[in-house]
Amino acid sequence: MTSRTVLVINSGSSSIKYQLVDPDSGAALASGLVERIGDVQGAIIHKVDDAKHVVEEPVPDHGFGLSEVLRLFDEHGPRLSEANIVAVGHRVVQGGRFFNGPALLTDEVVATIEELVPLGPLHNPAHLKGIEVARTLMSDIPQVAVFDTAFFQDLPEEAARYGLNREVADRYSIRRYGAHGTSHQYVSGEISKRLGRDDLKQIVLHLGNGASVSAVVGAHAVETSMGLTPLEGLVMGGRTGDIDPAAVFHLVRVGGMSIDEIDHLFNRESGMKGLTGESDMREVTRMMDEGNQDAIDAMNIYLHRLTKYVGAYTAVMGGLDALTFTAGIGENDARLRAALCERLAYLGVTIDAEANARRSDEPVTISTPESSIVVTVLPTNEELAIARQALTLI
Ligand code: AMP
Repeated sequence: MTSRTVLVINSGSSSIKYQLVDPDSGAALASGLVERIGDVQGAIIHKVDDAKHVVEEPVPDHGFGLSEVLRLFDEHGPRLSEANIVAVGHRVVQGGRFFNGPALLTDEVVATIEELVPLGPLHNPAHLKGIEVARTLMSDIPQVAVFDTAFFQDLPEEAARYGLNREVADRYSIRRYGAHGTSHQYVSGEISKRLGRDDLKQIVLHLGNGASVSAVVGAHAVETSMGLTPLEGLVMGGRTGDIDPAAVFHLVRVGGMSIDEIDHLFNRESGMKGLTGESDMREVTRMMDEGNQDAIDAMNIYLHRLTKYVGAYTAVMGGLDALTFTAGIGENDARLRAALCERLAYLGVTIDAEANARRSDEPVTISTPESSIVVTVLPTNEELAIARQALTLI
């Protein structure tokens, strides 16, 4: 058994994802998922050593779900009593302006996360459920919140503040908080280590079902595409990304739609899903190969938005040393990477087709030695990043 471990928990409204991490080696010792909490039939999937243990049963609430997870650890390993868990790390999406790093979960910190519910209505209430049950069931282990927004708390004011009436913006806490910060910080940090430089101008493309791009100089984020909420920025699986806010006025006045309907439309029924009927990029690619014009157009819209962001962020930083692809699409979609890099040829980007096509769980440099920008595919590891951040407080 390893010397110490961290249990990382990502609690959603009807699910709990977890991973037992060795923060020193980076290994995941076990992982799993409680799903369909509150439904008639739920499930707990516990994975350890290539084996998958599935329990199908109703999971009425988060407390029952987590107690079942603890039981599965005891039944199938690793036994938590022997795992030397030194911390439980909780992912929290919205930390507002209160947290620029991880926080030990005291009653006061919990109350602050609760205060932030209006800014993170989809996520924070679900995180609070996970935090509450973990604090009850594992009361002897320090619990730490790691915020998705923390990395972007030191964005320059000129990047974080919208051109919105100052009084209104401040009264309602409207500014750019960003998201996926744990991933952007982890990936940019790994690139700095790989290239042996702490003064790099970097762009990180986190392209998953949710997608965001950040500009990082040294160890500091200077721009990011998600804003007040994760809706802003890139075209995503189901989200519009950037859109003229006047579209909302138009849909209310002319379309007779309610605010909740528009929220659903912009966050769930738009992006690749709304453009093609499919949110999964593999399906979109398949449709493109069949000559589907909507899919071809959607991919061009997706790439166009990415190209705009890379150009804008390069301008903001006054140059670019490293461009990195991560998350589901970024790590797996070689064609999309090649297509974007082709559009970035004007920056002096050239990629090695063979390296780009290689599948690997390890980071791969896909640019050629002549390329003026180092382009890398680097798997993100938010669980490990959360575990390591949690440890800094122990
Ligand atoms: P994530 O949110 O990071 O888990 O990424 C999930 C998304 O990655 C899926 O919705 C797919 O669109 C995308 N994805 C996963 N594998 C591939 C692949 N081989 N090619 C293209 N897209 C992929």
